[in-house]
Amino acid sequence: MPSAVYVHIPFCRIRCPYCDFDAYRAPRRAIEGHTEALLAEIASRRHELRPITTLYFGGGTPTTAGAAGLRAVIDALRAAPGIVPESEVTVEANPTPRDAAIFGELQDLGVTRVSLGVQSFTDRLLPMLGRDHSATEAAEVIDRALRLGLEVSLDLMCGVPGQTMADWSSDLATAVGLAPGHISVYMLTLEAGTRYERLHAGGRLELPGEDEQADMYEAALEWLGAAGYDHYEVSNLALPGRQSRHNRVYWENREYAGFGAGASSFVAGQRWTNENHPTAYAEAIRSGARSLSLLERLPPERAMRETLALGLRLLEGVDLTAVRERYGAERLARMLPVLQSLAARELVTVAGRAALTRRGLMLYDGVAAEILAP
Ligand code: SF4
Repeated sequence: MPSAVYVHIPFCRIRCPYCDFDAYRAPRRAIEGHTEALLAEIASRRHELRPITTLYFGGGTPTTAGAAGLRAVIDALRAAPGIVPESEVTVEANPTPRDAAIFGELQDLGVTRVSLGVQSFTDRLLPMLGRDHSATEAAEVIDRALRLGLEVSLDLMCGVPGQTMADWSSDLATAVGLAPGHISVYMLTLEAGTRYERLHAGGRLELPGEDEQADMYEAALEWLGAAGYDHYEVSNLALPGRQSRHNRVYWENREYAGFGAGASSFVAGQRWTNENHPTAYAEAIRSGARSLSLLERLPPERAMRETLALGLRLLEGVDLTAVRERYGAERLARMLPVLQSLAARELVTVAGRAALTRRGLMLYDGVAAEILAP
């Protein structure tokens, strides 16, 4: 039974041109309807859960549910199965005064951590990214969260149109100066169906080249490492003791329960995803049906491959003894030629653990594809 819970709020106030998430701009009525459905889903599935140790509100933009909506969900989970006192409770938010205005209320509810989609501290680039905050506002929001005693994670993006290495260095310096406990660094990728993809296809969007983007990523690892941030996952760095406990559940391929439109769950070897569209989700929940758009039972070999691919995202790597105990010696033995082939190309090291090399880190997507290939 999972003790990690993810709650998905699929609404946003803005539509960022690079983002391919299912995120809807909806009237308050629709957001409240989704919250009601969430509460009904929690009531019908609370027996599936152990007392919660990590709770994560993601989206979309979870703060669109308002402090009252988030309070209702937290209260429902606190009533049963319960939230253990030292649990990590994260809410994703935008670094705007509007979101910062409810940080105090969120903290009173037991929220311990905010994850902020800053992306850039360069004012010139923010409109291009579709963001509705300024660099100064973002810095003030981070400062406010830290002063309240919340843990702060911030997302930064490199490879943004028009971004220079000087911009990126300045963003990293600003981030380090603000001293959040956790920083995620993402390279911009062109996702299918996004405005950026359409602009790029029409020759109206120029992106920094792959080499330039890789240089920016390397520069981030260097800068942040020198400032005391431990690079513990492909895209994530943290000060000592500030790693994301909830996200480690995914990277370690452990069980979690997801609630809300589009939320995924992984329980007892089964994985399912709720209906994506909030209206379809709310209707299915109201009618008493299980709101599923996808249900699969993972064969053990597939589950093992996923455990290896996800675990390699952690710089500490995957404990192969634990993989052998979880999936059996024969299954792991069948994977060893794949790992040895990757090791021969200096993409991973294989001893008691399998772990990415520095070269493998830069080529993680290809490494994962080889491990997941049947
Ligand atoms: S990046 Fe975040 S705020 Fe922007 S559209 Fe996607 S989910 Fe919404």
